[in-house]
Amino acid sequence: MVVDPVLGFTRDPSLRSSICSCPDCGEIMKAESLEHHQAVKHAVSELGPEDTSKNIVEIIFHSSWLKKQSPVCKIDRILKVHNTQKTITRFEEYRDSIKAKATKLPKKHPRCIADGNELLRFHCTSFACSLGLNGSSNLCNTVPQCNVCSIIKHGFKVTGGSGILTTATSGKAHDKACVDESEEKRAMLVCRVIAGRVKKNAEGGMEEYDSVAGAVGAYSNLDELVVFNPRAILPCFVVIYSGF
Ligand SMILES: [Zn+2]
Ligand SMILES: [Zn+2]
Repeated sequence: MVVDPVLGFTRDPSLRSSICSCPDCGEIMKAESLEHHQAVKHAVSELGPEDTSKNIVEIIFHSSWLKKQSPVCKIDRILKVHNTQKTITRFEEYRDSIKAKATKLPKKHPRCIADGNELLRFHCTSFACSLGLNGSSNLCNTVPQCNVCSIIKHGFKVTGGSGILTTATSGKAHDKACVDESEEKRAMLVCRVIAGRVKKNAEGGMEEYDSVAGAVGAYSNLDELVVFNPRAILPCFVVIYSGF
């Protein structure tokens, strides 16, 4: 058996194939551990001034804050979520299933057929660690104080049939968040959401639906929207903010 003098592992190709190095940090590990390693250690990256998406996220966050009485809160940093291929595939499969279902219905739902009625939505949650600070991309393990890390790691949780609340505006997401009010910082997730067929509260008798609209808001007629399948929602960016 030939052992590599530098790395110390065997050069036998049949064994070597099971060992790899992380493309992000160079750490050596078993191939089957790589996906989990990347999901936990390289879950996010901070967007710099040269990233056009930073600008876009900032604009949609601020323009929909809409709290006329209080000053606009302060954005500490904006992180891009590196979803695993498995997570992205699950999201895409869910969208495909909504599209396929829509094509078979007698009543036409053109948006559902086109893209599953995909929307860009907000979800606000707790934040208590140093994720994204000085390049830190390590998810913490502090639930419920830092629920954002749990969402990035495990996805959204649906408990007791209550569904996952998403909003059209950052201000509404902030007001509706289930968090400890005394915390100084929060995380605003910017998510892709497959709304599918939306049940509006006012209309009864819709046989089947994929999401439910909440009360009509002052700024948007779909300000609140609840989805019931964790696969219907994919977090893409995290805005860490304070001073609210
Ligand atoms: Zn790594
Ligand atoms: Zn955390």
